[in-house]
Amino acid sequence: MKSPAINQAMDILRELRRISESSEDIPVKLEKTVNMIVRHMEADAGACYLLVDDNYLELFAASGFKADAVHKVSLRVGEGLVGEVAKESRSLSVADAWKHPHFSYKTELGEEEYKSFIGVPLIRWGRAIGVITLQTKKEHEFSRIETDILETIAMVLSELVASEEMTEYKNGLIKSRGQVEKEKFKGLSLSKGYGLGSAVVHRRRQAVTKIFAEDKEQELKKLEAAHTRMNHDLDEKFNSTKLGIGEHVDILDAYRMFAKDKGWYKKIADNVQSGLTAEAAVERAYEDMWNRLSGTQDTYLKERLHDLRDVADRLLGYLSGDRADAAQVDSGDIIVVAQTMGPADLMDYDYTKIRGLIIEDGTPTMHVAIVAKALGIPVVSKIKGIYSEVKTGELLAVDGNDGYVYIRPSLPVQEKFRAKIAEKEKLAARLAELKKLPSRTKDGVRINMYLNVGLAFDLDYIESTNCDGIGLYRTEIPFMASEVMPDVERQLGYYKELMDRAGDKKVVFRSLDVGSDKLLPYWSNSGEDNPAIGWRSIRITLDRRAILRKQMRAFLRAAAGKELNVMFPMISNLAEFEEAKETLMIELEKERRRDFETPKKVNVGLMIEVPSVLFQLDAILKEADFISVGTNDLAQFMFACDRGNPRLTERYDVLSAPFLKMMGQICDQAAKAGVLCSVCGEMSGNPIEAMVLIGLGYRNLSMSGSSFGRVKSMVRSLNVEDIEDYVKTLLNSNRRTLRPQLISYAYDHGIEIY
Ligand code: PEP
Ligand code: MG
Repeated sequence: MKSPAINQAMDILRELRRISESSEDIPVKLEKTVNMIVRHMEADAGACYLLVDDNYLELFAASGFKADAVHKVSLRVGEGLVGEVAKESRSLSVADAWKHPHFSYKTELGEEEYKSFIGVPLIRWGRAIGVITLQTKKEHEFSRIETDILETIAMVLSELVASEEMTEYKNGLIKSRGQVEKEKFKGLSLSKGYGLGSAVVHRRRQAVTKIFAEDKEQELKKLEAAHTRMNHDLDEKFNSTKLGIGEHVDILDAYRMFAKDKGWYKKIADNVQSGLTAEAAVERAYEDMWNRLSGTQDTYLKERLHDLRDVADRLLGYLSGDRADAAQVDSGDIIVVAQTMGPADLMDYDYTKIRGLIIEDGTPTMHVAIVAKALGIPVVSKIKGIYSEVKTGELLAVDGNDGYVYIRPSLPVQEKFRAKIAEKEKLAARLAELKKLPSRTKDGVRINMYLNVGLAFDLDYIESTNCDGIGLYRTEIPFMASEVMPDVERQLGYYKELMDRAGDKKVVFRSLDVGSDKLLPYWSNSGEDNPAIGWRSIRITLDRRAILRKQMRAFLRAAAGKELNVMFPMISNLAEFEEAKETLMIELEKERRRDFETPKKVNVGLMIEVPSVLFQLDAILKEADFISVGTNDLAQFMFACDRGNPRLTERYDVLSAPFLKMMGQICDQAAKAGVLCSVCGEMSGNPIEAMVLIGLGYRNLSMSGSSFGRVKSMVRSLNVEDIEDYVKTLLNSNRRTLRPQLISYAYDHGIEIY
């Protein structure tokens, strides 16, 4: 096989373009493509494998192999040379494939006579979606130029493979084989993570059959005994369970208060007095409440109905005496499946064994979901019929990242889950190892790494990551988990706890950033057409100034005698920032006049999330002590692309020239003004994106605790001077995305971006 000249490479690309733009069917296009590449590159055989499941590659087109091998040959990612290419997302060439330790022989292919092998991944959004291979009969060392040509072809080919047409074809194929539907169900993710375990179907509510009591006194005694026992058990359970501190505990406490509510108990007792059995009286009390509240649009009240149903079910369980066996599960890892469930019900199980939770009627604001999330349990909801489909003891797999549930998963799927769970554990171990090592690049540049926190359990990361501080405290999260708008005292409790846990480390408090997808259960949805660009965030708190003032007061008190950093989100112009800053300053003055201890220093900053501020940045930088770029919102406004719309997630990439140029300009302007500048959007927590941010000049990154280890190992394997030079060369590129180039760069330079 001889190296084709550059002109020849151009010919291949031209022909490839012509094939992909033709009106032929996808299988024909793929077959023609493979034949054409084999011919031009003077190879003896070639193949195109595509990812059909997260973990499997299937032969979709071939030249020079057995005629019926297409769609018969499949490999696990990581299996054989092809699997290796996909797993590592990098090219691999060998002069004699048979001698390679990872070579795996496939009889269906008929590859006996071939010796040399080259495989190149088809990469899309940083991961391999397929592999293209060439083989020759004679031993042959593939040259750099041959590899380069094939990699260029692969880049163009990956466009075709990721096209809607191709996706439809692939899905149709999979569906026609009856796969997917049998074991895989799509739902809504309420808490991330992967879990594998035996199903435990959470008990259905018992129907009340006996309505009228023969002996009222007897019924009242029964009711009292059951109520007392239930409350006693609840108290004992919560007091003995190690739950840490935070809003999930507040939820459970509120539930406990509900169970003890005198008004509710009196209603039940009155129903018994009127002649009902204790069980029927509980149901009647619930129905009365349901009749009054079920029509409400108020999410808070709706959630209260959920709580009441849960407490009523619990009491019914005690009344009927079948409470004792409620959660007697002696198996190891379990996945709890419920139609609906209260937060306290979760505590009936040994939560250290719960590997996943599936709630058929679950919603994101549902308290059990918040509690499960705080406990690190993946949760998936909204899968119709799953409750009746699953039997206790069956094996289940929960993918809380993408919202899938697998019932009786096949061995390969089980293997995939075990690998993901093991990977998570390995990462955690690596994180622990990295903890003590400095966040310094290979050429000695210090990168300050901060944490984004919100939920109480995030605070554990302060110690486990050894971070430089809290770069973003999303104060709305405790507001979202609370029953009512927290007053100053309550807020002070949250903020002081964070300050205490952070010790000497810096903490940046962000003012309340609600609205859009972050809804408060006690505020009705305003029903706007475009909530993401509607009345949200600083716009709400400036209009409802009392909320902002109270929050500022709580911040000032939590940081008494220490340094306070306050950041305002969604600022659209200087005037807005000045207004927010003034509110803080007035509160500071009031605190002084009240003779309260105040912070020893107050720094005021803003988030760069709305593109309009970029055109007033110099003036803003004169007023701000620091800025932090919220790339999640900034990207959605910059590209006019809803950050929560799954149909758009792959359309625009932050790793593209327009976005990177803008990010570079913000960093440069801040540096010139001598103002501290950081990034606290998701970009910071993704190793490849964080690498580029460093290349653009950023030295302060704030991310979620779970991203810390991966970003730190990237930082420690990076050479800043090199990445700065490389990023400059990309800024004028016209490509829709620069991700493949950046991934290749990272691999070629030994930068850890796993
Ligand atoms: C952002 O928009 O990038 C950001 C950090 O804020 P949030 O994700 O909380 O909107
Ligand atoms: Mg934001």
